[in-house]
Amino acid sequence: MPGKSGAVDVTHIENETQMAKIFCIANQKGGVGKTTTTVNLAAGLAKVGQRVLMVDLDPQGNATMGSGVDKRKLELTVYDVLLESASIADARATSEKLIAGGCSYDILGANRELAGAEVELVELDRREKRLKQALAVVGTQYDFVLIDCPPSLSMLTLNGLCCAHGVIVPMQCEYFALEGLTDLVNTIKQVKANLNDDLQIIGLLRVMFDPRITLQQQVSDQLKTHFADKVFDTVIPRNVRLAEAPSYGVPGVVFDPSSKGAQAFVTFAQEMVDRVRAM
Ligand code: ADP
Ligand code: MG
Repeated sequence: MPGKSGAVDVTHIENETQMAKIFCIANQKGGVGKTTTTVNLAAGLAKVGQRVLMVDLDPQGNATMGSGVDKRKLELTVYDVLLESASIADARATSEKLIAGGCSYDILGANRELAGAEVELVELDRREKRLKQALAVVGTQYDFVLIDCPPSLSMLTLNGLCCAHGVIVPMQCEYFALEGLTDLVNTIKQVKANLNDDLQIIGLLRVMFDPRITLQQQVSDQLKTHFADKVFDTVIPRNVRLAEAPSYGVPGVVFDPSSKGAQAFVTFAQEMVDRVRAM
């Protein structure tokens, strides 16, 4: 697009034609901080100037509600996109609360209806590539697409993994944290071999971290030793403001920007921007 001086604004053109980087936030365990990571990273990325689409792939719809969109009132959701009865451009929503908070991102929401997609998709062709195809149409409108996965390695998660450039794995530094990781790593290997050659684990994100607990410090050190640069530098602390935010329908980054948890997610957003530049 010509600028005031008549010169061509190259950065703008590049952004318009470049496909967004797509990341799944996945871990087949429930309650490990996937949704908290998804909505706060989305808000953090928006805060540092990135254009973000958040996709809720969990029928619980927590990421939808936690972004200020009422899942019960949605006419179109990711379910319609997966069954190809709507495009993402038709189904995506914006949130007044996010706009008011100055950290706005688009939301492809989910509700209980999505639980049915699991069964319905089995019958259909290209069943694991539905989301990928839909994202191809709007991908250039965003810098980042973040996909909040359900706590399973289901057809829904598979749709996420098929279109992603990478997986972000939130984990608590507990004794059994590494056990569940084996299944996820094997699934990612299989998807990479058969369906999506791009796929890799971008990083393990230590969440709900309490440095006063010796065991957490020890597990954290072990993670660093075993996984080296696959462990993100940023650590997300246990912070009550992050847990309170969903009941107000906003990410912690919007709810209380000065809280330790919010600040950590903005730092993490910047770390992701830097990683993507190096990809
Ligand atoms: P998942 O999506 O993996 O099931 P959630 O993101 O919903 O996990 O988190 C599970 C619970 O832990 C929620 O009640 C959430 O508010 C809380 N929580 C997540 N991260 C933090 C944190 N860093 N500090 C305090 N509470 C957290
Ligand atoms: Mg969740």
